[in-house]
Amino acid sequence: MTQTTETKAEKVAKAVYRCDWCGKRITFSFFTPRQCAICGRHGHYDCVQFHDEPNDGGDYPRQYCDECWKLGAESRAKIELLEEAIEKEESHWHIVAQKAVYDVQRKNIKLI
Ligand SMILES: [Zn+2]
Ligand SMILES: [Zn+2]
Repeated sequence: MTQTTETKAEKVAKAVYRCDWCGKRITFSFFTPRQCAICGRHGHYDCVQFHDEPNDGGDYPRQYCDECWKLGAESRAKIELLEEAIEKEESHWHIVAQKAVYDVQRKNIKLI
């Protein structure tokens, strides 16, 4: 849940994050508030278990609340298969393109 409040002194819009499990404010530390990538809810570390995207090598991996994580087991399995298919197709594309470039280069060599 995101609330926007305006402080009169500064007239700066400031986002206040509240935990969607306990309703209390999430104070900022150097951690960003945890937000589920599926349902968008914010939560305290103590209120809900979050799961990190296992194959996300980035600095800020996608996170999922425990409920969404459990509901997504089937979808994650399907996504994994699709990602494998995408990888396969991309390497096929590389091979086709490399062959085409090679053929053009060979033709050009013959013309010289
Ligand atoms: Zn909480
Ligand atoms: Zn969620």
